[in-house]
Amino acid sequence: MRPGFKKAAIYAAVISAAIGAEIAILHLCFDREDEEAPQAMCWPVMGTVAQMTSRKHVDELEFGELYARVQASYSRVEKLLSAWNPESELSRLSAAGCTNWTEAASPEVRPCYKAALRLAEESGGAFNPRIGEKLRALGMGRGRYSRFDLGAIAKGFAVDMAAEEVERAMGGRYFSFLLDLGGNLRAVGAGEWRTGVRNPFRGVDASQPDICAVIMLLGGESVATSGNYERFVEKDGKRLSHILDGRTGEHVSGIAGVTVVTPREYGATLADGLSTTLFVMGPEAGAAFLKRFYPLALALWIPDDPASPRIIVTPDMAYRLERIEWPAEKTR
Ligand code: ADP
Ligand code: MG
Repeated sequence: MRPGFKKAAIYAAVISAAIGAEIAILHLCFDREDEEAPQAMCWPVMGTVAQMTSRKHVDELEFGELYARVQASYSRVEKLLSAWNPESELSRLSAAGCTNWTEAASPEVRPCYKAALRLAEESGGAFNPRIGEKLRALGMGRGRYSRFDLGAIAKGFAVDMAAEEVERAMGGRYFSFLLDLGGNLRAVGAGEWRTGVRNPFRGVDASQPDICAVIMLLGGESVATSGNYERFVEKDGKRLSHILDGRTGEHVSGIAGVTVVTPREYGATLADGLSTTLFVMGPEAGAAFLKRFYPLALALWIPDDPASPRIIVTPDMAYRLERIEWPAEKTR
C-alpha cells in the first residue's frame, strides 16, 4: 500500500466520523490483477464524501493538480445546485418564484435540469424534482422543502463534470481513475473496477455480510445506489425512506436499495437519477421503464425483506455480478 493511499484512508475515516457517515471507501474493491497500488484522495463536499482514485500511478504533482480541478468542479456544482444552502443559485431561483428552470439556470448546470425534467416526464412523475411543491400542495413539509430539488441527480451530474475535467487534463494518455461522490461512481479512462453493493440489512443484523454482491464496472461506466438505510426519516419509531413517490408524495416502502450501472453515453447523471426513479417504481415497472427509455442501463433491486434477503436483477446485470450472497431472480 502506498503511503499516500494509507493517508487518504485515515483521512476518510476522520472525515466520515466527523460527518457521521459510514466510510465511503468501504464499497471500493480493487482489481485483483492490479499491480500498482492506487493513489487516492478523500474530502467532504455536497453533504457527503468525495473520493478520487488513480490506479495507474501519476506523479504526485499532477495528481494534486487533478485533485484540485475535481474539487473545484464539485464545489461549483454545489454552489449552483444545493437545495439546502439558501445562497445557491437553485435556492435563489426558487425563492424568486422561477418557473422556467432550464433557461434561468447557469449554462454549466442546464444539462442537469434538463435531465431531471426529462426523467420526470418519462417516468410519469415517479421521479419528480418538484416534489417540494407537491408536498406543500398536499399540506406536508410546511415549507421545509425547496420548490425544486435536484438532490436525486446533482451528485451524479457533478461526477460527470469532474470526469470531463480529468479527461481533458489527461489528454490522449493512458489513465485509470475512479471518481466516487457519496456512492455515485464513474470509471474514467481505461480499466475495470469492482464495486461492492452494501448489504442494507447490516444495521439490523450485524451477523450478515457487509457486501451482498460485487459488480464489475468497465471503463467509462457509472454506478449509483439509492437506499433507505443511510438517509432516512424516523417517525413514531418507524424508519421512513428519504425517497418519495413523486406521483403521490408518499414515502416509498418495500425496497431497501437499488443499484444502477450506466454506459458512458448515459453517464453518472442518469445513473443517479435512474437509481431514485427505479427505487420508486420497483422491479417490475422499473424494468419495463428501462426497456423503453434506457435499454443500456443495468439495475439491481433489494426488496426490503431482511427475513429472506434476495436480489432482483435485469437480465444484463446478471452478467456483471461476480459474487452474490443471496438468491437472485431476473426481471423479464
Ligand atoms: P442519496 O441522495 O441518498 O444518494 P438519491 O440519489 O436517491 O439518494 O436521492 C434522494 C434525494 O432525492 C432525496 O433526499 C430528495 O432530496 C430527493 N427525492 C426524493 N424523492 C424524489 C423523487 N421521487 N424524485 C426526485 N427527487 C426525489
Ligand atoms: Mg439518485
